[in-house]
Amino acid sequence: MRNLTWYLLAMVPTIGVAWLMLANYLSVVLHRCVAHRAVDLPRWWIFTSTTLTNLFVLHINPRTWCADHRMHHAYSDTDKDPDKQPNVTYAQWLAGFLKHSPKASDPMIQKFTKDAIFQHPIFAFFSHPIAGPLCAVTAWLAPFALTGSWIYATMVWVTIRVLGMLVLSFQSYFAHGGDRGWGYRNYDIKDQSVNLTSRIALFLTAGEALQNNHHAKPSRASHAHLDHEWDPGFQLLRFLERIRIAHIPEKPALTLNEADIASDVTP
Ligand SMILES: [Zn+2]
Ligand SMILES: [Zn+2]
Repeated sequence: MRNLTWYLLAMVPTIGVAWLMLANYLSVVLHRCVAHRAVDLPRWWIFTSTTLTNLFVLHINPRTWCADHRMHHAYSDTDKDPDKQPNVTYAQWLAGFLKHSPKASDPMIQKFTKDAIFQHPIFAFFSHPIAGPLCAVTAWLAPFALTGSWIYATMVWVTIRVLGMLVLSFQSYFAHGGDRGWGYRNYDIKDQSVNLTSRIALFLTAGEALQNNHHAKPSRASHAHLDHEWDPGFQLLRFLERIRIAHIPEKPALTLNEADIASDVTP
């Protein structure tokens, strides 16, 4: 019982570090930098973040994630949207997510990720089908090696995955629920994206729950477009800029946008 109390106390900083690493890798590196090119990051930061987060926190396939995400923008709220198809219930969305396991070798994944960065050995390694199971093991071994406790390691491993599902539910499902009256919209665009108001959702997703803002202006580094809106991922990005790791362009170079990607693809 005493051990359990210590384990629960130790979970707080551990999950805090995991959140920080995932916010950096998923929201800043993969989403804002690699998928949208809204910010500039040096390669050493991209590949170090990719390696450490995948090995020790949670595996997120860099190539299939970026391809799926670009398809999500190109085909939002249609049957071709890999994130959320129209009129699905939460149970249907969850079942679809659990079944969805694209491979980096799939033709559509390759068409949406022609960028040279995906050929880099580190991205190629973490995009390989073996990386998922391998990282599931190393992510459990890390807390086990630090504490020697398999109970603690299992608690950390399970909590990160449960929170990961919660994050995905907020950003992929609830933040695209305009047809169900959730959240609010600043931009009258043709998809069902909304901005969620919950501070918990905004914190957990590192600002990715402001999907209506992001869908309207995907090349903008910040998802918070109004004074009252909160984008913790952008605050992290500003910190990285302050310590001279990130560069946020005044006007993002629109070298890659969803229209370009869509026109490159035969639906
Ligand atoms: Zn979206
Ligand atoms: Zn996006």
